[in-house]
Amino acid sequence: MEFLAAHEIAHQWWYNLVNNDPANVPWLDEGLAEFSTFFYYKARFGEGVAETLRARRWAAPVEYAKGRGLDAIVGQPASAFKSNYEAMVYAKAALFFDALRTEVGEPVFLAALREYIRRHRWGIVTPDDLLTSFVAAGGRDVRDLYQHWILSTGAP
Ligand SMILES: [Zn+2]
Repeated sequence: MEFLAAHEIAHQWWYNLVNNDPANVPWLDEGLAEFSTFFYYKARFGEGVAETLRARRWAAPVEYAKGRGLDAIVGQPASAFKSNYEAMVYAKAALFFDALRTEVGEPVFLAALREYIRRHRWGIVTPDDLLTSFVAAGGRDVRDLYQHWILSTGAP
């Protein structure tokens, strides 16, 4: 219940404040709402619990799906998924955000999300808007990670 509350409250930012097309780009708000819970758990219980969340809630379901031939391109409309919707749109997308955090470092990652909100408050975003916020926040161009995690199969 605590996890679900944190996820749903995160939608106040990702989907309510910064909106996106939930039918065609569901991973954008679901992945961010999922990964936002990492920071909630880290602040409330510490890094170890947050890492356990990452491993059990996101890495394990993605591995399970891959092991059953259910790996898929995350960047697809909701209607393109079958039983792998949650593993791809929630878990694998959360791992993409974790990969971004690891790649650019947490300060730049958080600055990029603040920039994303500043630029797109009450707007409707696309993945490109997210990616350009990373460059605007002083991070590097992360399109290679986006290509690897969201537009390809096989990641991580
Ligand atoms: Zn959600």
